[in-house]
Amino acid sequence: MPYFWRMEKKVTKIGVLTSGGDSPGMNACIRAVVRTGIHHGLEVYGIMRGYSGMVENDIIRMESRSVANIIQRGGTILKTSRCKEFFTPEGRKKAYDNLKKHGINGLVIIGGDGSFRGAQIFSNEFDIPCIGLPGTIDKDIAGTDFTIGFDTAVNTAVEAIDKIRDTADAHDRLFVIEVMGRDAGYIALHSGIATGAENILIPERKTEIEKIITQLEEKERRHKLVNLIVVAEGDEFGGGNEVARVLKQRMPLLEVRVCILGHIQRGGSPSCFDRLIASRMGYHAVESLVEGKNNVFIGIVNNKINYIPLDEAIKKKQRISEEWLKIVKILAT
Ligand code: ADP
Repeated sequence: MPYFWRMEKKVTKIGVLTSGGDSPGMNACIRAVVRTGIHHGLEVYGIMRGYSGMVENDIIRMESRSVANIIQRGGTILKTSRCKEFFTPEGRKKAYDNLKKHGINGLVIIGGDGSFRGAQIFSNEFDIPCIGLPGTIDKDIAGTDFTIGFDTAVNTAVEAIDKIRDTADAHDRLFVIEVMGRDAGYIALHSGIATGAENILIPERKTEIEKIITQLEEKERRHKLVNLIVVAEGDEFGGGNEVARVLKQRMPLLEVRVCILGHIQRGGSPSCFDRLIASRMGYHAVESLVEGKNNVFIGIVNNKINYIPLDEAIKKKQRISEEWLKIVKILAT
């Protein structure tokens, strides 16, 4: 049996929390966890504000009706936070004592790789099995084809970029559009491909600024400057404003408009796809706890549920596919 399998104790009371950056679909996931837990006769507790609620004993009992009418809502009804105390052994001990007070003996953590790191350390220190679910708009977690919130975020970006394309086209203008992604370029890559952006700049690759300048000079000569450059926040230059500044420096006559999409990408009603994967993953998280699994996160690979040890998820990042990069090169010319 794999080492993350633990059969000796039966889970009877589970806690669910959302931690780190929020993402659309987290509510659909909470709903699935609560209702699957109740289906199995478990008591389900909502832990408020991520690990902060564990440390501060902000924990509430949840019933089926507590999650009524939330599947379509963005954000998270449990709220989320970044919790400094959880980085310390004292903070985690407090969290453990609070869980014990409620008799909670299983946890579902919906969050990104930081939250998984916290979960892994916690479940190694204490006898509470932890199941992670990938809730992040960045899609930067290895071991899953999808993360909860990515599809919605990327569709929000696409809708905005399409609108910018209309006005860029009307005026023959150059736009630099910054999308989210401090360390991961997936939102930029997918939204850039889907909107036919001429250039896509991502943290995982060097920004080929000379090539872009040559292209723009050629377009300038032809007085055809409609051009969309989609930039992830964390590209080599540090986002849209910096890329525009460098372009202006090199081509002083160039008119560049910058548009930073920002937090609209995090909010909003989750797409159908995000609601589906959130429901599926939430259901499997509880099934896993009931079966005695521990210290894994649940992903979907080739449409099958994939169980990945948390420490593996932490070590690896989702890599940018070479296939997509090749497609960009060919299609964006
Ligand atoms: P995300 O889960 O979106 O990647 P963060 O990286 O901010 O977000 O992590 C969320 C929370 O997880 C942190 O605020 C902290 O409470 C907990 N956490 C992250 N890394 C660790 C760690 N090494 N030890 C303990 N807790 C951690």
